[in-house]
Amino acid sequence: MQGLMQDWPLLTHKVLDHAAIYHPDQEIVSRSVEGPIHRQTYADLNRRARKLASACEKHGLKLGDVAGTMAWNGYRHLEIWYGIMGLGAVVHTLNPRLFPEQLTYIIDHAEDKWFFVDLTFVPIMEGIQDKLPSIKNFVVMTDRDHMPDTSLRGALCYEDLLAEGDEDFVWPEFDENTACGMCYTSGTTGNPKGVVYSHRSNVLHAMSTNMADALGFHSTDAVMPVVPMFHANAWSTAFSAPMAGAKMIMPGAMMDGASIYELLDTEQASITLAVPTVWLMLLQYLEQNPEKKLEALKRVVIGGSACPESMMKAFEEDYDVEVIHAWGMTEMSPLGTLGTRKGGMENMSQEDWWPIKLKQGRPPFTVEMRITDDDEKELPRDGKAFGHLVVRGPCISKAYMKGEGGNILDSEGYFDTGDVSTVDEYGFMQITDRSKDVIKSGGEWISSIDLENIAVGHPDVAEAAVIGIEHPKWDERPLLVIVKKDGAEPEGDDILKFMEGKIAKWWMPDDVAFVEEIPHTATGKISKLQLRQQFEDYKLPTA
Ligand code: AMP
Repeated sequence: MQGLMQDWPLLTHKVLDHAAIYHPDQEIVSRSVEGPIHRQTYADLNRRARKLASACEKHGLKLGDVAGTMAWNGYRHLEIWYGIMGLGAVVHTLNPRLFPEQLTYIIDHAEDKWFFVDLTFVPIMEGIQDKLPSIKNFVVMTDRDHMPDTSLRGALCYEDLLAEGDEDFVWPEFDENTACGMCYTSGTTGNPKGVVYSHRSNVLHAMSTNMADALGFHSTDAVMPVVPMFHANAWSTAFSAPMAGAKMIMPGAMMDGASIYELLDTEQASITLAVPTVWLMLLQYLEQNPEKKLEALKRVVIGGSACPESMMKAFEEDYDVEVIHAWGMTEMSPLGTLGTRKGGMENMSQEDWWPIKLKQGRPPFTVEMRITDDDEKELPRDGKAFGHLVVRGPCISKAYMKGEGGNILDSEGYFDTGDVSTVDEYGFMQITDRSKDVIKSGGEWISSIDLENIAVGHPDVAEAAVIGIEHPKWDERPLLVIVKKDGAEPEGDDILKFMEGKIAKWWMPDDVAFVEEIPHTATGKISKLQLRQQFEDYKLPTA
């Protein structure tokens, strides 16, 4: 027997319809690229997204076309997401921090036909447009007064284009499995690979990650996604915040500690999300300005790289802000786990809870997860065994764009995340390492992430990275690479002493190297690849 419920496809513009009807006056506040703070409501977003869709349709954009964006988090970027997706076309976000050769490869591979670009990034696109014949229309995301004198092919001014549209535009009907978003990820080997989200996966992911034990946004929340819309789907916030009717605060181009603080404070953000490097800048700014407090902020979500204990402590103990440690990846839409207390842990002492809270957390409904050995055999959930972390679910990739990389699922349909982790008896997962970064010493594994998190707790250390260096006896041994805090002069031995007792003796790094800067990837993670190249000829004193 079939159920007798209505067919109501899970389409992203249904989220906007809901926000516009039930939360029409709720605000979207953006730091605009032109400078001033801009305010609009969900009713405005709905009107303008429809106008944009209608105007683009008149100019020939249709179902299945790909439209690239290179833009900060702001109201126009949101309008493009909803407007383009609502047409059944695909929004392809580009990370401006990639090299021009990577950008051309990705845009060409995805066959972008339209391209929306923020003022900041016009020069980047001018520099590479000749290598991108697939792009028919460039749209500069600004108004007539700020329109630059640009060589971009047939450049349209966003506000002029929008003015051609009809705010009563009716969204077309199409299947919920239609592609709506695309984001390339650099993966471990070969060229970047395109992750393709569907309407269904984005709507389901927003519902799943918005459950009370996960992000749990309320319509009374003010959500500030510092995580960019061009990195891993902005952790779903562009869908989950409107779905909840929460206020949105979009930080635009200004990502330094002072600017982030200013918006958090003036707009009274209650929850904010970003990678650890952003929070490092904010905490340093607060340290230098002790009169500043985080009064309205209740929760901060930290993910993308491991959250060090010292960062979690600073937020919780110095500023009374709850930290939620999260893990995920582009291929997972992206959230996979969040570290919130679960039933049975209500009365757990802070002392017992703290080491669990530091882990990457547990999956919300829709994410199935397990760890396996090299033969795909499941390993115990005992918090000790570590193995390949594999995942499956309706918001997780089953293939990359154009089948790049071949079959990416194992015999039971699980996707290998490339991370190595443990899972404990409570279901909390802890990342040990990326499988390619784990240090293999004498047949045993040393977690570079654990070592980094401890080293960065030293008061004179600004940032720490650990890589394996070839060793004649042990295969590899850890080298600790340190960026000192401004004005501090720690000795290598001080830092190693600080780590004593916090790790097994044989995990202790064999040496400490000081550098001015640690290289980062375009998504703000430590680039172990570049660091390994930098220390290619390094000889350990123990070798
Ligand atoms: P991306 O697709 O760029 O978001 O990268 C995903 C990868 O980032 C994961 O496979 C992990 O290796 C890493 N990652 C994300 N969140 C965390 C976290 N909380 N702790 C440690 N690693 C993380």
